[in-house]
Amino acid sequence: MSENATFPGDKIASIEEYEAGYNTFDDGDMVRAATIGQKDIDKTTRIASVKHPKTLSIPKDGDIVIGTVAAVMSSMIAVSIDFINGKPTTSKVECICGTRNIRIRNIALVNDIVTLKILSHLNGTIHATISEPHLGVLFTKCRKCGGKVVPMRDAIKCTECAWIDERKLSSNFGKSDFVHLRE
Ligand SMILES: [Zn+2]
Repeated sequence: MSENATFPGDKIASIEEYEAGYNTFDDGDMVRAATIGQKDIDKTTRIASVKHPKTLSIPKDGDIVIGTVAAVMSSMIAVSIDFINGKPTTSKVECICGTRNIRIRNIALVNDIVTLKILSHLNGTIHATISEPHLGVLFTKCRKCGGKVVPMRDAIKCTECAWIDERKLSSNFGKSDFVHLRE
């Protein structure tokens, strides 16, 4: 490996001089590598990145991700990322998404498929938003019986037991393209 090789946690640059770019995080003092790769220091944009030998596995700010809801808490959901900008990723990086400001009863359930936009990386945690119209639940099931649901105005209705519930639906909800993403 060359002298530009990085291992996870390696210091790449000082945050006073550089911003954390691809495959890096900032620990409050230094930009550090989040993955094995090659250092990529851009002196013009002042961004320090790491080029990963394979596909990029850590989403960057502004990326659209699709993932599986891993946990639902009172003010946030945790999502295991399956796709970054439409490209599959096997690294199973998790992001969290604040839900405090959304007035919906069940924003998403565990195992729902959601699409989110990455907002920031903070202390090694990836933060995302679900608030825009195209963001939200792509695939869900009835909370009572696990049956298929159909959208009904701002709500969803179970086709099996007629239970009416709420989700933060994506404007792409119900488009069958997304169903086969679930393997
Ligand atoms: Zn049902």
